[in-house]
Amino acid sequence: MTTSLTCDVAIVGAGPTGMVIAHLLGQAGVRTILIERNASTVTAPRAVSIDDEALRTMQAIALADEVIADVMLDYGSNYFTRHGVCFAKVEPITREYGYPRRNAFTQPKLEASLRAALVRYPHVTQLFEHECESVEEDESGVTLTLLHAGAQVQVRAAYGVGADGARSMMRRVIGANLVGSTYNQKWVIVDLASTKERFRQTRVMCDPARPFITLPGPGGIRRYEFMLHEGEDEEKAASPEFVRDLLAAAGPDADSPVVRRQVYAFHARKADKWHSARLFLAGDAAHLSPPFAGQGMNSGIRDAHNLAWKLAAVIKGVIGPRLLETYQAERSPHAWALIELAMNMGRIMMPTSNRQAALVQNAFRLASLVPPVQAYFAQMKYKPKPFYHDGFLAGDGGLALSGRMFPQPWLELRDRSKVRLDDVAGSGFALIAIGEDAQALAAATDVEAIGLGPLPRIAIMPQNINLDSATHAGVVEARDVDGTLSSITPRARNMLVLMRPDRYVAVAMKIEKAQTPGSFVEIAKRLVGMAQG
Ligand SMILES: Cc1cc2nc3c(=O)[nH]c(=O)nc-3n(C[C@H](O)[C@H](O)[C@H](O)COP(=O)(O)OP(=O)(O)OC[C@H]3O[C@@H](n4cnc5c(N)ncnc54)[C@H](O)[C@@H]3O)c2cc1C
Repeated sequence: MTTSLTCDVAIVGAGPTGMVIAHLLGQAGVRTILIERNASTVTAPRAVSIDDEALRTMQAIALADEVIADVMLDYGSNYFTRHGVCFAKVEPITREYGYPRRNAFTQPKLEASLRAALVRYPHVTQLFEHECESVEEDESGVTLTLLHAGAQVQVRAAYGVGADGARSMMRRVIGANLVGSTYNQKWVIVDLASTKERFRQTRVMCDPARPFITLPGPGGIRRYEFMLHEGEDEEKAASPEFVRDLLAAAGPDADSPVVRRQVYAFHARKADKWHSARLFLAGDAAHLSPPFAGQGMNSGIRDAHNLAWKLAAVIKGVIGPRLLETYQAERSPHAWALIELAMNMGRIMMPTSNRQAALVQNAFRLASLVPPVQAYFAQMKYKPKPFYHDGFLAGDGGLALSGRMFPQPWLELRDRSKVRLDDVAGSGFALIAIGEDAQALAAATDVEAIGLGPLPRIAIMPQNINLDSATHAGVVEARDVDGTLSSITPRARNMLVLMRPDRYVAVAMKIEKAQTPGSFVEIAKRLVGMAQG
């Protein structure tokens, strides 16, 4: 007997990517089925580094506090020569998006929290222990055939998402190929339940004889990653004796309890096609990164936030299906930029000879004497900005804001209470006016004319300007209390921004004194209309 189920979106894969999509769709009221072959979410250690952008997405699904309870916030990374001399430090202190930029977490705990919290949405059905065996697409939707305890389950959905990991079946269904290089490098990963290593940061030992990394984790755990040489036997490399010798040579953890030893081969690849008309790839199904930048899962969470609001907007008829064509255009170049970053970091970590190591490491030491260069590394300015150049965004007359993730300031409201921007912006689009005249500007903007329904209107004064005493009905009036927006405010005295549900800027515009918000509304309306067409 075959059971038949219907929904708007069927997601294959309950890893972090698939579950974040399920949360965002659940929040938007979209009927969703989440399909996972395993009985539970992962239990073995995997990703260990979660960034500020991903934590902002956790905030969007109202899980930031719960996730952060299991996170070690704000750690850095120090790079050492084979003689143990530190030649570069990455210790960012900026919090542009509301959270520290580098944070240690454990994937099993994150996944367990994501799964448990999905019960908030009665219209999101979880089908664990269901293997998706085949997917067919036609003009009006997709049909997935699942196998569960020897019986068939058929799911009919308007759209399907393949968040089904590195060996994605959905990738084959849409006819996509992985392009890029197979990173011909194997590492043995060793996870410890506790550590005697008291160094708080990540320690990267760039020793050509055997590069290794040791990373902190929440609750006093620690990970070691050792590069294997070509021809080294994988089985031997993962043996307890071999790993003990590596740990003994690396520091004080020779006798610390090992949770897992595993050899991994890393890849640097992405799919050449991310979607068909009704099927979409996200996360590891769409891109595979070496872990040196700690971005594999973080990129998947960016995909999730980008794709989920677009699917919800199309399913609800708010924006036309052409919107979905912007998914790959926005996400693919950015995901690849982070893979390239990981490969470049790998080159620094894995010098091929003592001579090459000395050249690179001395260059870093000299460069660190120049304060702007030192700041470039310490503050992680080398990390590609969350910035889309092409997609659901409109030109902004030189502000360089459209396509960029909007910063997240702490706002001081009229009653002196403090709140984060996203908590007043809500989960949809929001209008933000910035500048001395922001209150009047926000009040005068006919947001309904944009065609996205009624939107929150938020007026933000620069840090050193107090609110106008006249209140404006329907406008959240606030001051950028920490000056987080100071990096963008000098570009214009007043500006209007249409922020998307994924916190990226769709439209930004300088508003000169005599100008009314009318032209901003026209540009935004045209953008929404184009995606309709
Ligand atoms: C050693 C290591 C260290 C890493 N470190 C980091 C790090 O520090 N930071 C970081 O951001 N990333 C890191 N990563 C990468 C990160 O773990 C992955 O990028 C992340 O798990 C990808 O999430 P996903 O949801 O896209 O895919 P997955 O987590 O692989 O989930 C896919 C899910 O789909 C299910 N599935 C597949 N096919 C089917 C089917 N046919 N039917 C039903 N279910 C199916 C699978 O069972 C699985 O649960 C690391 C990875 C490794 C291996």
